[in-house]
Amino acid sequence: MKKHIAVLPGDGIGPEVMTQALRVLETIAYKFNHEFIVNRALVGGAAYDEYKSHFPEETKRICEHCDAILFGSVGGPVSDQHLDKWKNCEANSILSLRKLFKFSANLRPVRILPELQGVSPLKAQTIKTGVDMIIVRELLGDSYFGEHKQFTDNRNMRIASDLSVYSEDQIANVAHTAFRLARARQKKVTSVDKANVLSTSKLWRTVVKEIGQEHPDIQLEEMLVDNCAMQLVINPSQFDIILTTNMFGDILSDTAAVLPGSLGLLASASLNDKGFGLFEPPGGSAPDIAGKGIANPIAQINSLAMLLRLSFDLEKEAKLIENAIEGALKDGYRTQDIYHQSESTQTQLVGTKEMADQILKRISV
Ligand code: NAD
Repeated sequence: MKKHIAVLPGDGIGPEVMTQALRVLETIAYKFNHEFIVNRALVGGAAYDEYKSHFPEETKRICEHCDAILFGSVGGPVSDQHLDKWKNCEANSILSLRKLFKFSANLRPVRILPELQGVSPLKAQTIKTGVDMIIVRELLGDSYFGEHKQFTDNRNMRIASDLSVYSEDQIANVAHTAFRLARARQKKVTSVDKANVLSTSKLWRTVVKEIGQEHPDIQLEEMLVDNCAMQLVINPSQFDIILTTNMFGDILSDTAAVLPGSLGLLASASLNDKGFGLFEPPGGSAPDIAGKGIANPIAQINSLAMLLRLSFDLEKEAKLIENAIEGALKDGYRTQDIYHQSESTQTQLVGTKEMADQILKRISV
């Protein structure tokens, strides 16, 4: 197979973990006789230094001519956000990409591996039966894209409003994605809304139910968002696929992202209706650890596995990477973010490159 991949390492730990993911890509290409052409491009602060833009035309052109995008992370230290280089860096980079490619669904797999139960903020008792879910978030509707207004009324009171809009095709598209994903898993979709209050949620519920009838082999459950937030913390094992709106998905997916104990573990994908995708870790540029060689490369490597599976249909290759990650963790290798001294198994603290070395060793055999 011959494919072009746009590689956007970005800022902070982005380039460090991307280097390791590209080593994995090279090994997979060699082992399975694929040709992956890597087209690097600047984004975020790194792009600003060169082009005075967080998402320059050159980067846009490269992304448009590739088969998938592997993204690192962007942004500077939280204390430097006032500097031109970092001002709106994340929004300018990520929202531009979302708009350009009309990414309509975000997929966030959340898994707590048995080896890492000790680093989860949840009690062992709560997660003992395992956690393995995907949060599917609609990306183009809701109040994020409706009209935003601030005005003064006739009493001279300042008023603000954000219009939340959903059309039935937006809901149907993302619902089909969720049901299709469930088919290859536990065959259960939990649709999350606020249908007891919001009109958009009432339409959401109606349309999801209609789409559910086209997928009779999948169990559909409805849940209010406030309950879902609680259930993610007290009983996350019950979920297979969570399907939800843009704003609820924003909040729930970040809540779920911390359940495994570090942002350095999970992958995330944004897909459009044509199946074109961007794959990235859920965390940011981690300025607190950037340049120290200690960032966890697993989230970036998992993002690569997800890209191979969803964009190129390379299931065997993706599984091999995921098994290699699990193998390295099972054998006790830990970067600092997931190092827990009280673990009963013998663990060894390693840096970014050494963790990738352990993963590569298990892919190469
Ligand atoms: P962050 O996600 O960068 O870091 C939060 C915590 O998680 C830090 O302690 C960090 O060290 C840790 N962490 C994250 N990834 C890790 C990894 N791979 N290995 C080990 N530890 C890891 O969030 P922040 O510090 O609030 O934001 C820093 C910058 O990142 C900001 O400029 C923010 O705007 C940006 N940001 C970008 C994205 C993105 O690129 N998609 C997402 C979130 C935040």
